[in-house]
Amino acid sequence: MKIVFATNNQHKLAEVRQILGERFDVVGLNDIGCHEDIPETADTLEGNALQKVRYVKEHYGLDCFADDTGLEVAALNGAPGVHTARYAELFGKGETHDSDANMNLLLQNLENKTDRSARFRTVIALIYKGEEYLFEGICPGNILHERRGTEGFGYDPIFQPEGYDRPFAEMTAAEKNAISHRGRATQKLADWLKNEK
Ligand code: IMP
Repeated sequence: MKIVFATNNQHKLAEVRQILGERFDVVGLNDIGCHEDIPETADTLEGNALQKVRYVKEHYGLDCFADDTGLEVAALNGAPGVHTARYAELFGKGETHDSDANMNLLLQNLENKTDRSARFRTVIALIYKGEEYLFEGICPGNILHERRGTEGFGYDPIFQPEGYDRPFAEMTAAEKNAISHRGRATQKLADWLKNEK
């Protein structure tokens, strides 16, 4: 079954292909000739994921899924949340997707906090045969005091999943996928799609 994943991130495409398996031919936005930046202007992860799939359906007529992820830190009332990618940019301290600036700001904002608990949350929106569905994956953990490890991307060097003594950046991709927010949401999507023809 051919299905569009509304992303051009090759890392995410590879991760999702691995979880969905060979029954699904997952194609990215480049593969359908979509080279524009799809707007993500909603104020929730759910809203952004839905915005992306509705855009693809409307402009390309294709069923598709899209994800949006946020890091929700308890002591910061759930921030950076929907602003995770552009946390530092919002405060004039870096560009969108500047992971170093994002981590610096987060560590700084947690300097005087004893509660370092946080969770990554991924929402996947799916449009399938004209209907919309949402799948959620959560990975609870803690924010470390300093960076460790070199694997992964984003906030991986400072996010340590619950029950582990290493941050994501010290795990292999397979170890991380098995417990990560995106891995869990994608597994729910896979389980749902497997029951479809
Ligand atoms: P996106 O919605 O997947 O683009 O994620 C938004 C932002 O969350 C990214 O720019 C990253 O900074 C961060 N992020 C998402 N997933 C992960 C992850 O698995 N590890 C670390 N950071 C992540």
